[in-house]
Amino acid sequence: MQDWTGHCAIVTGGASGLGAATAERLAGNGMRVALFDMNAEKGEAHAARIGGRFVRVDVSDPASVAAGLDAATEAFGTPRVLVNCAGIGGAAKTVSRGQAHDFGLFEKTLRVNLMGSFNCASQAAARMVAAQAVDADGARGVIVNTASVAAFDGQVGQVAYSASKGGIVGMTLPMARDLADKGIRVCTVAPGLFLTPLLDELPAEVQASLGAQVPFPSRLGAPAEYAAIVAHITENSMLNGEVIRLDGAIRMAPR
Ligand code: NAD
Repeated sequence: MQDWTGHCAIVTGGASGLGAATAERLAGNGMRVALFDMNAEKGEAHAARIGGRFVRVDVSDPASVAAGLDAATEAFGTPRVLVNCAGIGGAAKTVSRGQAHDFGLFEKTLRVNLMGSFNCASQAAARMVAAQAVDADGARGVIVNTASVAAFDGQVGQVAYSASKGGIVGMTLPMARDLADKGIRVCTVAPGLFLTPLLDELPAEVQASLGAQVPFPSRLGAPAEYAAIVAHITENSMLNGEVIRLDGAIRMAPR
């Protein structure tokens, strides 16, 4: 098992939802947590609540991520854990009312979700590589990405989102292989339906009907349940190169 107590963790999208819960959990485990997010108001407030540090970062911009990593390193030391939770949704069909899917929307979705995750992972890994190993295995760090069940069973209107999440699934094993001799593990969690601000805004009956689609337990997942698996991944040295569905056995229908 790996013990990252006192080390720096970075959680992107840490101002909200799954990222906020993960930041809180890692801070509770004794990590020093930097939140990378675009939402400064929520990010500052959450960082203050958990004793972390907010840094305004656009994950899709390499210079912004480099500056964020500098700030996090200065505050808390070399990042040893990176959790990529920043992401955007959006729904559009390949062709709708005779019009092709907006190319800019497709590009933006991939840029934030896929390239943003790669950008943070590759830059954080470069810093981890330069740090001392922390145990006899030669462990230097852990990267956890967030895909979605939409990577496997994308619904009507999810072509861009599913492509971005499928890309995250696809890069998990080669990234783990690339970084194996550096002592850095890489895993991806593919969540099903979780109750985050995104779904929070839906009427209670819509939330209930979404939850009822989950075989067991028949409810929406709690962000703390996502955070718990991330915490376990950070600690369990044998988890590497794997994509883990966290979804109560749901398989999404076409629509
Ligand atoms: P959320 O909207 O509550 O949080 C996402 C956060 O990412 C926000 O704080 C937002 O400001 C931030 N963000 C967006 N673009 C950014 C950028 N360019 N740079 C930095 N930060 C940026 O969403 P959530 O439900 O917590 O989702 C977190 C991740 O989990 C996303 O990648 C999402 O696709 C994935 N996911 C969520 C669910 C679910 O049911 N909630 C299911 C599957 C996958």
